[in-house]
Amino acid sequence: MQRRHILAASALPLIGCDPGHEIEGGFHGINLERGHFLRDTRTLPAPSRTRRTRVLIAGGGVAGLAAARALRLRGMHDFALLELEDSAGGNARGTQVGGIACPMGAHYLPVPGDDAPQLQDLLEEFGLRQRVSGRWVWEERHLCHSPQERLFFRGEWQEGLLPLHGVGPQTLAAYRKFSALVERLSKAARWVIPVTSVRASAPQLELDGITFSSWLSQQGVSDPQLLWYLDYCCRDDFGAGLNIVSAWAGIHYFASRHGFHVPGDGAPDRDGVFTWPEGNAWLTQRLAARLAAEGQLHTGQIVLHIADGKHGVEVDAFNAVSQTVDHWQAERCIVALPVMVAARVLQNPGERVLERAAQIRYAPWLVANVHIARPLHDRPGAAPSWDNVIYPEGKAPAMQSLGYVDATHQSLQRVPGASVLTWYLALGDLPEGRRQLFEQPWTHWRDALLADMAVPHPDLRSKLTRIAITRYGHAMAIPAPGTLRQINRAGRPDEGRLRFAHSDWAGYSVFEEAFALGHAAGNAAL
Ligand SMILES: Cc1cc2nc3c(=O)[nH]c(=O)nc-3n(C[C@H](O)[C@H](O)[C@H](O)COP(=O)(O)OP(=O)(O)OC[C@H]3O[C@@H](n4cnc5c(N)ncnc54)[C@H](O)[C@@H]3O)c2cc1C
Repeated sequence: MQRRHILAASALPLIGCDPGHEIEGGFHGINLERGHFLRDTRTLPAPSRTRRTRVLIAGGGVAGLAAARALRLRGMHDFALLELEDSAGGNARGTQVGGIACPMGAHYLPVPGDDAPQLQDLLEEFGLRQRVSGRWVWEERHLCHSPQERLFFRGEWQEGLLPLHGVGPQTLAAYRKFSALVERLSKAARWVIPVTSVRASAPQLELDGITFSSWLSQQGVSDPQLLWYLDYCCRDDFGAGLNIVSAWAGIHYFASRHGFHVPGDGAPDRDGVFTWPEGNAWLTQRLAARLAAEGQLHTGQIVLHIADGKHGVEVDAFNAVSQTVDHWQAERCIVALPVMVAARVLQNPGERVLERAAQIRYAPWLVANVHIARPLHDRPGAAPSWDNVIYPEGKAPAMQSLGYVDATHQSLQRVPGASVLTWYLALGDLPEGRRQLFEQPWTHWRDALLADMAVPHPDLRSKLTRIAITRYGHAMAIPAPGTLRQINRAGRPDEGRLRFAHSDWAGYSVFEEAFALGHAAGNAAL
């Protein structure tokens, strides 16, 4: 807290800052050419060598890395993982800007519950959980330090993200009503993470049939502050707002975790969340390091073709460094690729893969890592937090940001200095969002970011030195109406020698789901 007070006290007049200085920046982090390579493979050379392994894992995101871990735990070491990018981790990779570690995508992991035993076990393996006097204790240094989150609302910062300052009694009544609805539904069904560990129940399938906004209006929930908050939660977890995600997804967000409580109404303590300067890359880098040490990790490899043959699986992969094609033969293949990629590279994708690929709508995302030379001037109210969200006053909903997290929040350094603020924008609501993401120059996003963040931080421009922007065209599957029904019916479409793993098979994308699916596929492959 002491450090926070120093940060808050740094609201000093600007001395020696040049608001007109050049801001360096550009796109980085994802190799779009490699991703688009699969669109036309006709000009590729013929395979120049054949390689053999018992299990081949295609895709090195959280799901692929979890599958590799499951194989290792079962004593299987004869496997290879092929990843398109130059490092594994997928949407949960990290980077450095101005020498400061920061996330390139996923940035936090809630403390997992007992429905995610393999994940609990992983955290234990990494020293984040240990038994003390018969009780499980989570490693405090890696749990998000206080203060965790704040909202810039009506000209000042308030603690927490639910709009509270100056709201009227009708808004508080709407909060209580929604809290009661969540509580009732929490009791009517089992809401768990990972979602694929239980079969969906009738009330959940009913909620899956309509959008969250339609359901809320049926329940008579229309308070603008509450609707903004629920929309924010959906965009934050699912990449699109409440007009697009299903009521099942909207309720699952609360019922599977901490419920919905009005501050001051005796809410139970919320479980903590783990976070690191580099975000969830702290986890994926550790998972990948082990594979790299044992020669099982092959990066810069674009999987082009997977055929499930009579005697084994045949896989062609383009090596982006040597510009040659390798032909792999394996007994089994774990397809840890996004479903739309799987549908393209599988020789016979099968009905369930094609059905899911046809249904999925992907949310594009943009992540901007903003390097600041010195701490920002701050507005009155709650102290600088890890997660800082700006309530939009009269902005077009599709361009609302999700705010920013501070990469140096976990640092114990007492005098604040340079930092990286990671700003998130989910574009799932924006018609033509993907086209915009790829057609607009980086300066377009720089200006959108400055317009947003400068509201609480007018001195941002003068302290900003560099912006590194990562674009995800197909970042995550949006859990639109019908998703739960499809997931429930399809399960993983394992067939022949192929096992499937990717968060797309859970219907929505979080670390816990990808990890559970990867582990299950690894076990199924044996
Ligand atoms: C901006 C952003 C923020 C997020 N924040 C969080 C968060 O804070 N917490 C959280 O829990 N979740 C978050 N998520 C969700 C995140 O997607 C999941 O947590 C998880 O990382 C998904 O893992 P996955 O393995 O299912 O998929 P992916 O990450 O999509 O992994 C698929 C992998 O396959 C590779 N690949 C694709 N095509 C090929 C090919 N042809 N050949 C070889 N390899 C290929 C890709 O490069 C990638 O590495 C966030 C997502 C995004 C985009």
